Amino acid sequence: MDAKNTIRICNVDYDLQFIEDLRTSKGDRCDGLILFSRSEIYIDKCLLPQAKYQTLWHEIIHGISTAVGVKLTEEQIEAVSYAVIGVIRDNQAILNRMNPYNNGELKHYKKKSIIRTVKENDIV
Ligand SMILES: [Zn+2]
Repeated sequence: MDAKNTIRICNVDYDLQFIEDLRTSKGDRCDGLILFSRSEIYIDKCLLPQAKYQTLWHEIIHGISTAVGVKLTEEQIEAVSYAVIGVIRDNQAILNRMNPYNNGELKHYKKKSIIRTVKENDIV
């Protein structure tokens, strides 16, 4: 599995592959597929970049909904994927600034949390 094309969804690493003329097992053309049994996500290679990104999010939402045991319809998956893309696209600056996984800030939060826990233990 190529780390560059791996996407982790709820602790499962999926291999992202771009396939020409992507089709379902029934032979119907489709833009994307997620195969849970193989931990693979396929995206049609010929899609435009925006459609590839939207399709990737569509498959990610499928992955999340299955992992957490929430049954969503295709329409709900589509709506949530467009909504997530919109939030990311419209709020990049604040999302980057608030992301605790950027710039080592998560380490800082962990230290504060540990110090707080020790103080609480001292009082008890
Ligand atoms: Zn779908």
